[in-house]
Amino acid sequence: MPSDQLEASARLHPAWKPKRLLITPSALSWPQGAAMAERAAALGSEIVRLKADRLTGLPDNYRDAKTTMAVVVASPSRRRPQPIPPSADWRFDLAEGCPAHCSYCYLAGSLAGPPIIRAYANLPEILPALPPLLGQGQVTSRNAARAAEGTTFEASCYTDPLGIEHITGSLAETIRFFGDWEAEAQLRFTTKYDAVGPLLALPHGRRTRIRFSVNAREAERFEGGAPRMPNRLRAMRKAAMAGYRIGLTVAPILNLPGWREAYDALLSDCAAALEGAPDPDLTVELITHRFTEGSREVLQGWYPGSTLEMDPALRTRKTTKFGSVKYVFPRELMGELRRELEASVARHLPGARVLYFT
Ligand code: SF4
Repeated sequence: MPSDQLEASARLHPAWKPKRLLITPSALSWPQGAAMAERAAALGSEIVRLKADRLTGLPDNYRDAKTTMAVVVASPSRRRPQPIPPSADWRFDLAEGCPAHCSYCYLAGSLAGPPIIRAYANLPEILPALPPLLGQGQVTSRNAARAAEGTTFEASCYTDPLGIEHITGSLAETIRFFGDWEAEAQLRFTTKYDAVGPLLALPHGRRTRIRFSVNAREAERFEGGAPRMPNRLRAMRKAAMAGYRIGLTVAPILNLPGWREAYDALLSDCAAALEGAPDPDLTVELITHRFTEGSREVLQGWYPGSTLEMDPALRTRKTTKFGSVKYVFPRELMGELRRELEASVARHLPGARVLYFT
């Protein structure tokens, strides 16, 4: 889709509003936590000031959980960055949980309990844990393509930080924090959201790579509550024009009817959206759909009517190095997907670096 049509066709996705925001006394004592409560109150959310730091009164059903945000203080163990190959050297968390309703959501099965959104108030304790890790990344054959980026820090393992940024403000602070560094380092996050406006003028120093999670138009029916593709592409264009490094996270790649044409059209649309962007330094991550017994069970409970295929009989069972089992596409289909998608990337985005296919 040419960029002028893109501009005309996309209206900003409505910002998510939590019905209730719970905040602990410790979280409220941090200026960032108090600001989160103020922003949610301005949106019309009910603000519940808890009497103790233990979270109580959490909803136990999906619908209520997905409209609840809890602002808490990240404990020392939560603040400790963890290695996270192949997507980055280190992971750190600003929040957990996401307001969208994707029927393949990768958070299902990895976060315990009802899917509320937890945001951390103590950013001034979270960010200082990162600079001591500079130069401590591990370059392996699987991630060699991003070796030139310096030490990389991933902020979206358990959340979509842009989807809640209008309440937390944490992403903007983190982008500024990385922008101030002298060293070779990079903040990375993935998003399906489109509200990039407040990020555009930040002094990011090109030390942030915004990776837009994109999929074929036919996959949008599995992405409830997330901005539509034209919105994401328009946001990607704005971020690229503002000098951010850009990534495409093509995920999850699905065995859709006509998938070759569908993903080729997607990559063509991405190329059109980036047309004329000065230097997006584009990277591409290609991630096929997979599930575990645990995530399948959780997702079937959350989205009983979804038509997303999660049939172990149609998949290959794979044991990870940690001993857990996941179900991936059969080898032959994986090979075809890889060949075709890499060819589409080369055709439409010849300057892009494919970081990995998995
Ligand atoms: Fe899950 Fe990402 Fe969808 Fe949020 S946007 S529901 S994190 S898959």
